[in-house]
Amino acid sequence: MNAADASREQALRTAVVRTARALAERGLNRGAAGNVSARWRDGFLITPSGIPYDALQPEQIVHVNMQGAWQGAWKPSSEWRMHRDIYANRPEAGAVIHTHSDYATALACRGEPLPAFHYMVAIAGGEFVDCAPYATFGTEALSRNMLKGLGDRKATLLAHHGLICYGRDLAEAFLIAEEIEGLARQYLIARAAGPVKPLPPDEMARVLEKFRTYGQQPKGRKHASRPETSDDDV
Ligand SMILES: [Zn+2]
Repeated sequence: MNAADASREQALRTAVVRTARALAERGLNRGAAGNVSARWRDGFLITPSGIPYDALQPEQIVHVNMQGAWQGAWKPSSEWRMHRDIYANRPEAGAVIHTHSDYATALACRGEPLPAFHYMVAIAGGEFVDCAPYATFGTEALSRNMLKGLGDRKATLLAHHGLICYGRDLAEAFLIAEEIEGLARQYLIARAAGPVKPLPPDEMARVLEKFRTYGQQPKGRKHASRPETSDDDV
């Protein structure tokens, strides 16, 4: 590895640690629960097994290749297989986050998907966020179920377990994990007050189309010279 690659790897290790700590700070994970990874070279860099996020150091982040092999003193998270399978099956995935955040997990423990009760559910790239059937943590069966739960979306609940999602980078994966936790909270609050009617499929199709282009500035211009849309509060 040349010096430029070594420094890029170091920066990515630091970013994985920062993201793992941010999950703990925002209450999305506790202790050593959940895990974070970023795609790197012929595999990915992932948080190690069993080390609390506040004690985590960049050198403890583990490089795992696409065959599942790793080197060094630290074992990768027991959920490395789910991360590997997302990178193997979703070429656009640059980072993966898995949480046991309270409200997403509460919904997952009921085995229920997150429906289109609010338009922001489209942040995961579909009309709803599915809930994958339960399988023991760390197993191939869980990973298979997870891929089915993802479908063509960027997130899925995992029954009796939690949430997993991916993004093009750590920032996008974090945004999705945090948003889905907030949506699961709002959904459970709304439902506690009575039945919740989902948005119709044609409206969700419209929202998904807007999300596809949201935030994209015209090519060659960092700042548009006129307000293009009123979407800034999405
Ligand atoms: Zn887990």
